[in-house]
Amino acid sequence: MSCIRANSLDEAIVKLSGEGRRIADRKPVSGGDINRAWRLELSDGTALFMKSNTVGRLPFFQAEVLGLEALRGAGTIGVPEPLALGTDARQGISFLLMEYLEPAPRSKAYWETFGRELALLHRAGCASLVPGGRFGFAADNFIGATPQRNSPRESWPVFFRDCRLLPQIELAGDALDRRTRGQLDRLLERLEDLLPEPDFPSLLHGDLWSGNAVCGPDGKAWILDPAAYVGSFEADLAMTELFGGFPAAFYGAYREVTHFGGDYADRRDLYNLYHLLNHLNLFGGSYLYAVQRIAGRYA
Ligand code: ADP
Repeated sequence: MSCIRANSLDEAIVKLSGEGRRIADRKPVSGGDINRAWRLELSDGTALFMKSNTVGRLPFFQAEVLGLEALRGAGTIGVPEPLALGTDARQGISFLLMEYLEPAPRSKAYWETFGRELALLHRAGCASLVPGGRFGFAADNFIGATPQRNSPRESWPVFFRDCRLLPQIELAGDALDRRTRGQLDRLLERLEDLLPEPDFPSLLHGDLWSGNAVCGPDGKAWILDPAAYVGSFEADLAMTELFGGFPAAFYGAYREVTHFGGDYADRRDLYNLYHLLNHLNLFGGSYLYAVQRIAGRYA
């Protein structure tokens, strides 16, 4: 079913569940960075997950729906189904309704299954998701609160330069000292030597830190809150390692589908430079040191 557009929350509920249905109960869900999150219970007992924000944030939810639908289309790993989105002028909100994932205990093979299913996602056909190029996405989206450019490019290092590093460096402006800025400029010039073309393009989650995977009702990992695009699988792997990494079982199972070796580790920080620049732009100074360290290393 494709995601319903609605002009109020009540209309969304009726379109989804039928005449006479209403929200019987709503409980806040914690854990989000940006939006308010809720478990809704409808009058017929159905549970739904809702994110809400100010009216002006509707484009964030529209972009999220495109990402969720693309990831669901691959059919390799759990992704919640987006059900309805819209604005509600009376409540002054934009909202996204999706399938509610009932919490369940993790299966014994949770991390192995997660690693394998993510690797299979990265192996799934994705050419139709990037009209006019090999890397990118059909629409721009967001990484956290920052706009993320997805203009198609034929070359992976060119995409990573034009659509990932450059926009964040420009956004950072004076937050970057002259020395670091010079190092980043040299790094950008060398990017085609530093990042090889991947053997195959992959649909990526795009923001795969541990908070964006939860255990679903089947005891397996489901991935949430994507910043999806088509790129090198190494970029998703690198993000999983940025804030501490997943257990070894995850990477072992991933490797059984797609081998990644020592030269990936040489590129990991370069991929994560994108997220660190984004964190610098969103949250300020404390990320500068990490950016400086990586810029100095690759320049
Ligand atoms: P934000 O966009 O604010 O970062 P998230 O998408 O990360 O919000 O969701 C916030 C939290 O809500 C998640 O950490 C997760 O625990 C929970 N959550 C997200 N999606 C669902 C869902 N479909 N069903 C149940 N809980 C969910």
